[in-house]
Amino acid sequence: MCGIIGIIAKDAVAQGLLEGLRRLEYRGYDSAGIATLVDGRIERRRAEGKLANLARRLEREPVQGLIGIGHTRWATHGLPTETNAHPIATDRVAVVHNGIIENFQALRAELSEAGYVFQTETDTEAVAILATYFLDRGLTPQQAVAETLARLEGAFALAFLFAGEHDLLIGARRGSPLTIGYGDG
Ligand code: GLU
Repeated sequence: MCGIIGIIAKDAVAQGLLEGLRRLEYRGYDSAGIATLVDGRIERRRAEGKLANLARRLEREPVQGLIGIGHTRWATHGLPTETNAHPIATDRVAVVHNGIIENFQALRAELSEAGYVFQTETDTEAVAILATYFLDRGLTPQQAVAETLARLEGAFALAFLFAGEHDLLIGARRGSPLTIGYGDG
């Protein structure tokens, strides 16, 4: 089990993401991270272990951004290292994921064959790179996620953040819970 969160707001979201992750802490985790957009680029801060480590990282290296996603990871595929911590990202998309992608090895082989390079040991990276594959072929984020979800086997909750898209988060779930809220600001 793990926790995922996404926020689009009128003020910087980093501390709100951290607070959201604190509220999900009870679910258990072994690393944590957030991603936001700064000038349209995906910026990440991740840390092994407890949220206090991520909080310290954010104090040392603050990150701006009015949109972002966050994750507390309970590793199922790959060690609980910073490299494997979510958000898992390419230049175009960042992903947080609760659950397991059962067919990640087949997807990984297919995408490696197509020339994409994997940086982590996670099943989740197949989701990020598959979405990137579709974005690279000119699909919109919505289309790219729809095509990606159609290829996934397993149970998951996912949130996607896209480079250059300051007003868009996409959430998806199959089997795992996910809620959406609307608030003032
Ligand atoms: N299977 C993913 C991983 O190992 C997500 C695990 C989770 O739900 O925290 O990175």
